Amino acid sequence: MFQSRALITSLVGALLIAVSLFLFGAGGKKVRSPLPENGWESWPPVEVKDESALASYEGRWCIVRTTAPAQVARDISAFVDEYLVQFGGVFSGKFKIVEKLKLRVLSTEDEFKFFCKRVYGTDEFRPAFYSPNLRETWVTLGGAARKMLPEEVLKHEFTHHMLHFFTGQERLPDWFNEGAACFFQYWDITMTRSENIEINLKRANGGYFGYFPRVIRDTFGKPEFLGTQALMGLSYDAFHTKEKKLEYLYYSESWALVNFLASTAGGKKFFSNVTAALRDGKELTKVLKPETYAQLEQAWYEDIRKRIIPSAPRN
Ligand SMILES: [Zn+2]
Repeated sequence: MFQSRALITSLVGALLIAVSLFLFGAGGKKVRSPLPENGWESWPPVEVKDESALASYEGRWCIVRTTAPAQVARDISAFVDEYLVQFGGVFSGKFKIVEKLKLRVLSTEDEFKFFCKRVYGTDEFRPAFYSPNLRETWVTLGGAARKMLPEEVLKHEFTHHMLHFFTGQERLPDWFNEGAACFFQYWDITMTRSENIEINLKRANGGYFGYFPRVIRDTFGKPEFLGTQALMGLSYDAFHTKEKKLEYLYYSESWALVNFLASTAGGKKFFSNVTAALRDGKELTKVLKPETYAQLEQAWYEDIRKRIIPSAPRN
């Protein structure tokens, strides 16, 4: 009983967020990327002893603290501002930025490890991550002769940052948190919303996290593939398991489910039916009956058969 109530609460929370996220979003527009196409010319390393090694640059909606030169910081803050505005555009109504989003940009892996050790006592390298306790996204520039921003992984982590930020929630349902991050990591600020939906599947076949469609194709219909109710009930620990195969499966399924909800008429219709019911003051427990999960599952599976499996690369 307790478990199913928790599940329902987490489902409702995610539905409300997702409804406001995707249903009434603006169409989006084409812009030029503020980032130089081939990155920035490299620079000599600076000595990093403490936080004072970070120079601060304010964008319109973000604060970039960095060891990189001023021009690099300005380009990145312009990119982050544009991404934020576009992300805001797919949200509806009450989407407000109450404080500037904080981004820490480090020039080298060693700098990342230095700060990671200071803050977390560990120096395990990750190209980017969102730190909930600092409310800060960290990203390390890649490349040698020329420095590049690892866009895909930054956008993934930054989506976590924005979802927490905009919903004001400490905890979000994990399938939704990861699914949305996996979906938005392919969002290209130089393309329109409909173009982005089109390229999402294509990009999910390659790139940094690019394994989702292949995993879906290899597991769909097999016992290990989780249905909606099991997927939505997965814990944070489940998503961070040491068993790579399971981790890939959970991320891929979450991506596929958010991809369905965010970019198909069927997904949106399902969501709007539920919102309408919620708005009418109907009992949530009555709205989210087992049949609701079953209906969602059926429509989602259809989307997988139609769009994801045909697009997946063959081994
Ligand atoms: Zn993530």
